[in-house]
Amino acid sequence: MKIIDIIKGEKPSLSYEVFPPKTSDNFDKVLATALEIASLNPSYMSVTYGAGGGTSEYTANIGEALLKKGVTPLSHLTCISSSKERIQQELQKLRSKGIENILALRGDIPDGMNRDGLDYRYSSELIAEIVEFGGFCIGGACYPENHPESYNSKTDIENLKLKVESGCEFLTTQMFFDNNILYNFLYRLSKAGVDVPVVAGIMPITNAKQIKRICSISQTALPQRFVRIVDRYGDNPLAMKQAGIAYATEQIIDLFANGVNAVHVYSMNNPDVAAEINKNLSEIIK
Ligand code: FAD
Repeated sequence: MKIIDIIKGEKPSLSYEVFPPKTSDNFDKVLATALEIASLNPSYMSVTYGAGGGTSEYTANIGEALLKKGVTPLSHLTCISSSKERIQQELQKLRSKGIENILALRGDIPDGMNRDGLDYRYSSELIAEIVEFGGFCIGGACYPENHPESYNSKTDIENLKLKVESGCEFLTTQMFFDNNILYNFLYRLSKAGVDVPVVAGIMPITNAKQIKRICSISQTALPQRFVRIVDRYGDNPLAMKQAGIAYATEQIIDLFANGVNAVHVYSMNNPDVAAEINKNLSEIIK
């Protein structure tokens, strides 16, 4: 099934993300995790892709297993470190496994990379190529607090518009912890004429270490309300986990209540976190 048909429906869409292992010895463990999350019957599941392409085989194989389990997979695909030939091979591979949805990304620029002569500079170039290949529903990434390389939000949204004009049918946001940031972003997108559906990305923070690392990489702001939670429960892992899940649940309920009908949970290969969120929302997503 195409993701655009899932997220455009009346029913709220709740999806989860998994990341593949770096090495083959962990594959079975990650696959079991993905299938455990799949048993929650999410609207779809995304599988990330290593920027260097090292885990591309695993991304496609996990996607194929999800499909067999009856859950629609969304395979991430990055282009910055790839040649055109390699991308064509990846697209063939996904097609041969019956995967119909791709989140097309540039990927982070590896330290010290010489960008002269690369086959791809931006995700929009990858998106155009997937459109030409044909048969996939294509999504892209967006950043309610701006992409870290952008000068300002106006330029970032202009670039986002190019992405949509290239054939991106829906957008998934970077995580955010204050819903007002998303509502403001959606208003700016609509003013700029970006009218594809936006899936809100929610990260349940379940340990204090995770938050420092994540916020420094993504430049995501932490509201004082959440800082207080980390201050109070950061040293108590079980309490922190409970508070983080409750915070994410509250964010999701507020999003659904305000008309954001598609939420993607960065479940970080934690089936118990996904299960808890699903349980908290059981009547809401029915
Ligand atoms: P782009 O859309 O190419 O944008 C990158 C920067 O270039 C932005 O600042 C943009 O404003 C600018 N730009 C875009 N087009 C133009 C143009 N034509 N001219 C000038 N400037 C332009 N990384 C992974 O390695 N694997 C994953 O699986 C993965 N999944 C992700 C999922 C989501 C939902 C998100 C939000 C991010 C994910 N990332 C992943 C991280 C992502 O690869 C990085 O954030 C990367 O730095 C940017 O990717 P992009 O596709 O948004 O890039």
